[in-house]
Formats: sequence, C-alpha cells, structure tokens
Amino acid sequence: MDAIDKVRLMADLHKDHCSLNHGPDVDITKIPAADYLVIPFGYEEKSGVEVAVRELIIPVCFECALALKGEEWTLLYCFECTNNHWVNRALAKNNYRHHILWLRGCPDCTNKFGGLYFTDIPTYGSEAVLAINEIRIAV
Ligand SMILES: [Zn+2]
Ligand SMILES: [Zn+2]
Repeated sequence: MDAIDKVRLMADLHKDHCSLNHGPDVDITKIPAADYLVIPFGYEEKSGVEVAVRELIIPVCFECALALKGEEWTLLYCFECTNNHWVNRALAKNNYRHHILWLRGCPDCTNKFGGLYFTDIPTYGSEAVLAINEIRIAV
C-alpha cells in the first residue's frame, strides 16, 4: 500500500463502518470505522518464490483496533466469507498467541475446512497493518 492508496482510504473512512463482529445484538453498520486493517495475501510458489496477490482491507472501529493491538483477544476471520469472531485468550481452551487467525473456510460457508493461516508466519508473507495509525499487528 502506497501513500496515495492510504490517502484514498482515509477519504473513505467516514463512509465505512466496522466490519468485525460485535456480538449478535449489535448493528455494526452503526459503528463508525476508525482505521483499516490491511493484510497482504500471498502464496508461495513451488520454487519458493513468494507472490503477493492481493490486499484484504477491513474497516475497523476504534474499539476493534485497540483489541487487535492488545494481547487479550484473538480474532478468528474466515476470508472465504468474512465471517469472524473474537476469542478471549484467557478463557480459550486453546493457547492463542496470534492477533489474527485466518480461516480458509468455516462452518458458515463450507463443510470443507481449508486450513489455518497465521499472520506471523513470515514464509506466508502476511503482516497485518493498521493503515492510518501505521501499527503492525503481527509480531
Ligand atoms: Zn469494531
Ligand atoms: Zn466462512
């Protein structure tokens, strides 16, 4: 993402709302976006060459941006259907240490579970960034 992309994003900020899960009774279309989570998706070719194919840009509100920066929550996000939910690390059965876990397919969109992607595995080439605050999410 270059400077021009970022200016364009910021110009649209007032039109966007948070797109992360705030629980079943909350209408997220009424929660203004405060930042954008930008995740470059790439894949590794057989030769070992990493190819960045696209950027996923997710509008997030202030509260979600804080949660993404902190150590209390892990976001589970299906990038096939954008369904997502938060896991409180202290209460979770599994030992989560990543800020975001990518699901390629979830029970809501498919019966086939495509796998997990961790934002902080460097070979996958993904590092999430909060566009406006320029804060890197992954370790
Ligand atoms: Zn939010
Ligand atoms: Zn899904």
